[in-house]
Order: sequence, then structure tokens, then C-alpha cells
Amino acid sequence: MSGAIAFSALKAEIVARRNDIISDLQALLPKDALVHEARELVPFETDGFIAYTRVPLAVCLPENTEQVAKLLRYCHENGIPVVPRGAGTSLSGGAIGQEDAIILGLSRMNRILDIDLPNRAAVVQAGVTNIAISEAVKPESFSTRLTRVPSLPAP
Ligand SMILES: Cc1cc2nc3c(=O)[nH]c(=O)nc-3n(C[C@H](O)[C@H](O)[C@H](O)COP(=O)(O)OP(=O)(O)OC[C@H]3O[C@@H](n4cnc5c(N)ncnc54)[C@H](O)[C@@H]3O)c2cc1C
Repeated sequence: MSGAIAFSALKAEIVARRNDIISDLQALLPKDALVHEARELVPFETDGFIAYTRVPLAVCLPENTEQVAKLLRYCHENGIPVVPRGAGTSLSGGAIGQEDAIILGLSRMNRILDIDLPNRAAVVQAGVTNIAISEAVKPESFSTRLTRVPSLPAP
């Protein structure tokens, strides 16, 4: 395949089972955790690399680890590709899921669980954004910005 990024070969048997898969997911997850209508899928058709768009089979928006585990177990048992997605700001198309794939959207798992400033470490859920962690440490006058390393002298 030509182009900047190559997609995997579509699993036709998964695409053909789309309606059954959506029914299964509706039984597995809370109603508002599943996005599958065409117009609702539009925001998930691409990420920061907007040169490519693909319509995913469905998007799941779990709120906790148990829901993630249920979804992953189901997808594993049924051979369904899963594409994790944070805020979708990747500039490389890594969060684009094609028609046989389920997007695991982590935006609702946005809790900062622990901040350990002396050790410059934080424990966060998988959907926490850079700006959220920056805001959380601001009152401590701590910056998460990268520090520029001084240039080395020319050899
Ligand atoms: C305007 C703009 C400015 C930017 N500025 C910066 C910057 O200053 N510094 C910088 O470092 N980057 C910057 N980026 C790049 C972007 O923030 C990074 O690519 C970031 O890592 C994407 O995070 P995301 O949560 O949006 O991931 P996504 O775009 O959703 O996904 C990126 C990749 O990570 C995978 N992924 C996402 N979440 C998970 C997860 N929880 N577990 C496993 N895999 C996962 C996806 O499948 C995909 O392959 C910028 C991007 C944009 C568009």
C-alpha cells in the first residue's frame, strides 16, 4: 500500500459481524459507554494526523478498569482489533481505527491518583492529559515543561 501510513488488512469476518458485535457490547457496557451511530463516530475517524480518516466499528468509553477488562476480554475472544485512544492528538495516525476495529477511548479515565513531587513521579489513569497534570502541580510551583539541554560545543 502506498501512502504515509499503512493500515492492516481488514478482517472481513469482523466487519460482517458488526451488528452482532454492537449488540454484544451493548450488553457488556453501560449505555453511554458505547458510540456506534455513524454521526457520533465522526470525531473518532482521525487523530492529529488528519490526512487519513477511517470509520471504526465502534468506540467504547469505559470509566473504570473493570469495564476495560470486560471489553478487552471480549475483543480477545472474538479476534477484534483494539486501538487505544487518549485525546487523539497523535500526529502519526496511531489512534486511527479502521472498520474492523474498536477504539478504546480513555478520556473518561482522567483521575490523577498520586503525585510524588520529591521523586518527580505521578500515578495517573490512562486518559489524563498533559495539561491536567501540569495544572495539578502548578500550585506547588512545579513545571512539567521539558528543560532545554545546553548545546554541546562543536567537535
Ligand atoms: C497541537 C499539538 C501540539 C503537541 N505538542 C506536543 C508537545 O509539546 N510535546 C509532546 O510531547 N507532544 C506534543 N504533541 C503530540 C501529542 O501530544 C502526543 O502524540 C501524545 O502522546 C498523544 O497523546 P494522546 O493521549 O492524544 O494519544 P493518542 O493520539 O490518542 O494516541 C497516540 C498513540 O498512543 C496510543 N495510546 C493512547 N493512549 C494509550 C494508552 N492509554 N495505552 C496504550 N496506548 C495508548 C494510541 O493507540 C496511539 O498509537 C502535540 C500534538 C498536537 C496536535
